[in-house]
Amino acid sequence: MLDWLVIGGGPHGVHAALRLIGEADVPRDAIRILDDEPRLPARWRRSTRNTGMRYLRSPSVHHIDLSSSALQRFANGPGRRVERPFTRPYFRPALDLFDLHCEDVIQRHQLQALHVRGRAARLDLTTAGAQVGFEDPVDGGRTGEIRARHVILAIGAPREPEWPVWARQAVASSAEATETEPTGRIRHVFDPGFELVDDANDAVIAVIGAGLSGAQIALRLAREGRRVVLVSRHVLRVHQFDSDPGWLGPKHMGGFTRLCDPDERRDRIRAARHRGSMPSEVHAALRRASADGTIELVEEAEIRSARVSAREVSLDLGGRWIRVDRVLLATGFPSRRPGGAWLDEAVDAFRLPCAACGYPIVDRGLRWHPRLLVTGPLAELELGPVSRNLSGAQRAGDRILAVAHQL
Ligand SMILES: Cc1cc2nc3c(=O)[nH]c(=O)nc-3n(C[C@H](O)[C@H](O)[C@H](O)COP(=O)(O)OP(=O)(O)OC[C@H]3O[C@@H](n4cnc5c(N)ncnc54)[C@H](O)[C@@H]3O)c2cc1C
Repeated sequence: MLDWLVIGGGPHGVHAALRLIGEADVPRDAIRILDDEPRLPARWRRSTRNTGMRYLRSPSVHHIDLSSSALQRFANGPGRRVERPFTRPYFRPALDLFDLHCEDVIQRHQLQALHVRGRAARLDLTTAGAQVGFEDPVDGGRTGEIRARHVILAIGAPREPEWPVWARQAVASSAEATETEPTGRIRHVFDPGFELVDDANDAVIAVIGAGLSGAQIALRLAREGRRVVLVSRHVLRVHQFDSDPGWLGPKHMGGFTRLCDPDERRDRIRAARHRGSMPSEVHAALRRASADGTIELVEEAEIRSARVSAREVSLDLGGRWIRVDRVLLATGFPSRRPGGAWLDEAVDAFRLPCAACGYPIVDRGLRWHPRLLVTGPLAELELGPVSRNLSGAQRAGDRILAVAHQL
């Protein structure tokens, strides 16, 4: 039996495994990372590359390594690793640098060797440990099982992103009408496995949703020579971070931790997260692109319906129709608890406590059950609005480490 199984090999899962190996002296052969992607941390790489973002939103002290100065030291290491490794404000790292550093951390600690490729599909908990059944994500018929004394759930956001109803209906009715597979003219940028490839045949592309990802994708496509229509339900929202930095310390977390009611905590998180916002420099770049005509900004617009044909997509913006070659949805993820049916079954079977929003009620050590810990979105009601971010991975790492030291 393993000592630890981490489910999910994104930044959170990799960081948790690293903390256990590097700071709790867990032997490497007593820990595994179960992830359905071919490599660690592939989902992060794909989604950040798709957006075309050049710099992270978070500062250089937020990364997956052990010491907070590790990324800065890495940037100053032998050879010039990337041009303009950091940018203002807040000394934010280039995505290229951040990814090189992730690779370096994974290589130095040989974490790729701990990766078991599989998608968790069953979770059994006992007083002595946990048993996780998994499926091969490529060949769903192949299955396996891993037993561990402790499991950490680091599964990130829900697998399926948020598709607006009109987009689902348009795709379904076009497939029905032509009795063929959907054409792929409407895609969500966070669809599992989706890679955004520039296609010179696309003259006009609509990007739906003007949060940071939508804005960055619009800018990327405009750089690549496409004409872009960026449609937003709201006026563009400008915030440097996706929540106030006061949430990183006692300024806001003090009051939050004193709240005993998980529903009140959820309300605070909702109010604190600047959903659909972007930093001022991205906003300024959008305004410039709008002024020079490469991006058409359509704010406070609701799409009523869409029609997909073999050659184009028509969008009804309430009286005005626009015709585009392709639609890219950048409408984020649903707010429901990530995991899906296998986790829902475990919640019922082992009576794992949940708030009204469905998210885990965990203790200070992020334990949902004596054998089951969480990080990322699942730890939100304990770690607050930063829980999903890289800083949340570091905070979760502190708590997980404290639990490991008590064992
Ligand atoms: C475009 C983008 C930019 C971002 N930029 C920043 C930033 O600058 N700064 C910041 O702090 N945060 C940023 N974030 C937020 C956050 O840091 C990232 O979303 C990060 O990837 C979260 O890491 P994670 O490990 O929780 O989730 P993920 O990276 O999603 O990793 C979870 C992994 O678990 C796997 N998994 C899920 N279910 C199962 C299962 N049943 N079995 C096996 N494996 C499973 C998934 O396939 C995935 O590989 C950004 C997010 C996005 C989308």
